[in-house]
Amino acid sequence: MESINIGSSIKVDVLPVGFSAKDVVEKYQKEGKESYYGVDLGAVVQKHEQWKTHLPRVAPFYAVKCNDDPILVRLLAGLGVGFDCASKIEIKTVLGLGVSPSRIVYANPCKFKSHLEYAEKEGCSLMTFDNKLELDKVKKIYPGARLLLRIRADDPDAICQLGVKFGADPANAPSLLQRAKDLDLNVVGVSFHVGSGCQNATAFSDAVAAAAKVFTVGEELGYQFNILDIGGGFPGTDSVKISFEEIAGELNRSLDEHFPESCDVSIIAEPGRFYASACATLAVTVSSIREVEQPDGNSSYMYYVSDGVYGSFNCILFDHAEVFPKIAFRDTEDVDARTCSIWGPTCDSMDVILKETKLPPLEIGDVLYFEDMGAYTKSSSSTFNGYSTPDCYYYVDNSSKEAVSNVLSPGSPLQLVVNVS
Ligand SMILES: *Cc1c(COP(=O)(O)O)cnc(C)c1O
Repeated sequence: MESINIGSSIKVDVLPVGFSAKDVVEKYQKEGKESYYGVDLGAVVQKHEQWKTHLPRVAPFYAVKCNDDPILVRLLAGLGVGFDCASKIEIKTVLGLGVSPSRIVYANPCKFKSHLEYAEKEGCSLMTFDNKLELDKVKKIYPGARLLLRIRADDPDAICQLGVKFGADPANAPSLLQRAKDLDLNVVGVSFHVGSGCQNATAFSDAVAAAAKVFTVGEELGYQFNILDIGGGFPGTDSVKISFEEIAGELNRSLDEHFPESCDVSIIAEPGRFYASACATLAVTVSSIREVEQPDGNSSYMYYVSDGVYGSFNCILFDHAEVFPKIAFRDTEDVDARTCSIWGPTCDSMDVILKETKLPPLEIGDVLYFEDMGAYTKSSSSTFNGYSTPDCYYYVDNSSKEAVSNVLSPGSPLQLVVNVS
């Protein structure tokens, strides 16, 4: 099997074009693990192409929390993507790849003092805030920081609401900016996040319009804002109510209206899910089966599998994800499905992946797989009860081999495409 040398013990396999997720799962099952991810690095390159095509004015800063897999992050760095980091360790991870601090936005409006000190030491100066006391903290620890005022701009239908925790009401922008001015702090722009899993493109255009008003407030106070950060919330798959292209169309229209190219404002975004979701397929193994007789005399089946909600499937709890099992190694099209439930491996009864579904009869040792498992899965999983996070197997198909090896091969320079100053 051909593979790309990326200068570490990890290899990236080159698979023939047309390999399906099922083929990938079946290939890596031979490694003998109960659970594993197949990670398609070519899919990440394609996402980046899609971004550049549809949002050419917007520089993406990948939200590391979504999936901090080191190869994924390295690939994105090599593609010229910037990074949204929320903590010291995330900043450290990204700087460790040779990424310049100018390609990082420290996008947590509520920062630990020690993390802020680290940002200061490393010159990681672009950061968000949304409250008065944070300004005092920044003044003490990093008076030279370049600040973005995060305003609240929710999509009420977004899958994960962020506005309940972060974002200043735009009505409070004047007093916050006045306070920043009094402290002689350097506010350089506005940021927002419409919520993760956005369902309404107008949430973005409404937020851009609200941000434009805050730019005017800044101007009246003597600030010269030059960065607009439109946050994350972009879908990572096509199986959602609204497509990336629709959102991009709406966004481009409102950006052209409120922030035309002539206005010299750099526009950045913090996509997480968009880049990470589709690249990973998770395979799990059926380890035990319990037959349960139902009142009507029929049986239902409880399948216990090798990963659950304390692991990769934490996305069901935290990210409100819906997951769809498929079966590897067998052609089950003509087999009658029967009622069953799918459970994670830990001793907690909350550890359930699907409370009721229908699947063809399964046996111990059967492999189930779940596509689009790259976002908010591995990065937020625990090892509760002694179950480890699944290993990743990386691959590309022939069509993306060159793009991926260009950026991951040892000695390949990180392209400094994104540089917001
Ligand atoms: C989580 C988060 C993101 C990424 O959101 P997605 O919906 O995955 O795109 C971006 N910015 C901030 C501040 C976040 O908290």
